[in-house]
Amino acid sequence: MTHETAHDNRLRSLAAQYGTPLYVYDADSFGRQYRGLREALCPRVEMFFSLKANPNVSVCALLHSYGARAEVSSLVELRTARRAGVAPEDIIFLGPGKSAAELAACLDEGIAAVVCESFGELESLDRIAADRGQRAPVTLRVNPAFSVKGSRLTMGGKPRQFGIDEQALYEAPDLVDRFPSLRIAGVHAYMGTRILASEVVEENTAKILDMAERIAERLGFPLELVDIGGGLGIAYFHGESDLDAAELTERINPVLEKFAAARPQTRMIMELGRYLTAPAGEYVVGVRYVKESMGESFAVSDGGTHHHMAAVGIGSFVKRNFPIRLVGAEPAAPTRPWNVTGPLCTPNDTLVTKAELPDPKPGDLLAVGRSGAYGPSASPGLFLSHGYPAEVLVHEGRELLIRERDTPDDLFAKQRLHAFPAR
Ligand SMILES: *Cc1c(COP(=O)(O)O)cnc(C)c1O
Repeated sequence: MTHETAHDNRLRSLAAQYGTPLYVYDADSFGRQYRGLREALCPRVEMFFSLKANPNVSVCALLHSYGARAEVSSLVELRTARRAGVAPEDIIFLGPGKSAAELAACLDEGIAAVVCESFGELESLDRIAADRGQRAPVTLRVNPAFSVKGSRLTMGGKPRQFGIDEQALYEAPDLVDRFPSLRIAGVHAYMGTRILASEVVEENTAKILDMAERIAERLGFPLELVDIGGGLGIAYFHGESDLDAAELTERINPVLEKFAAARPQTRMIMELGRYLTAPAGEYVVGVRYVKESMGESFAVSDGGTHHHMAAVGIGSFVKRNFPIRLVGAEPAAPTRPWNVTGPLCTPNDTLVTKAELPDPKPGDLLAVGRSGAYGPSASPGLFLSHGYPAEVLVHEGRELLIRERDTPDDLFAKQRLHAFPAR
């Protein structure tokens, strides 16, 4: 006898309807993450959704319905935010290698700020704006001279392709005058990702706000916008715990409020990708075969690296397991260690190693939790020509297909077969 919760029942019926592998998102979870922080955070700080974490247009529209604005990094992300209803004045565009077409699109749309990452980009944008007789609103992305320990990927104080070195800005005091078609009026810094300690966010925030004032003063521009980055994390692994919105805001609000009071005209922005989206998603895979190899148990599933590289953990030193469960299992069912692998022909295609699970059978479903961020769009979906899975958003009891699964025709559509007569 299986123990079927309403949620597991739904996963089973969605899997039957759309096939596995499948991503399922819960709108309530997006809402809890957004509103939980929004209600506690200094009201002057605007929350911008980093589309990179989950670029589906319906996910963007849902978060926008809660009040989120948009931080985009490509032409399609820009169009996604616009299609999702985000107003141009609530969009910023960043990224180290923007094309001329992307810069022009920022001007066409009239977005709040182009976050420029190099002197060369400032020159390009100045030229493009001059050709159109426009003045482009620019925020400078700064690679700070300082770094703060505690994020999984430290950004400040190191050679990086992102942003302009803080010191290089001090050595360019005439920067504002050099570019007549730019209106340089903001400072941005992003200190890293997966931050789970509120004291690290506090220290980053305080240092970035200080730096923004310093840079605006030294270069002589009005500080109309400051973007403190974000990088707020989500607990994935054993021993980690989620940031607590109350504890986090207790620490950072005083810093933010002090700045806000001193600068009533400055827009204050925080960027959030993973934090808003990761908890809402489950990656549902079907078990195809179970087998033993040299004393270990393997469940070979239909999902893996090609849709969920983050869970597979390529690039990490130690393989750590995302939360995984057997759909419909009795809560008290006995467990033993299982390796859950995928269909790809590489040993890296391992979703979890030695995860404690009740014995799965072929046909069973496994659900990888906390999978709403950096899923399919951050994975090599074309590897072995499997294509991308369907994505479903459950909203107020309705099951909304927000992306169709790729079909073989989709995958062939862009290939061209040329004839090579036998010789
Ligand atoms: C990736 C990225 C984000 C989003 O990061 P999360 O850790 O997912 O919140 C925000 N800002 C910049 C500049 C980024 O590169």
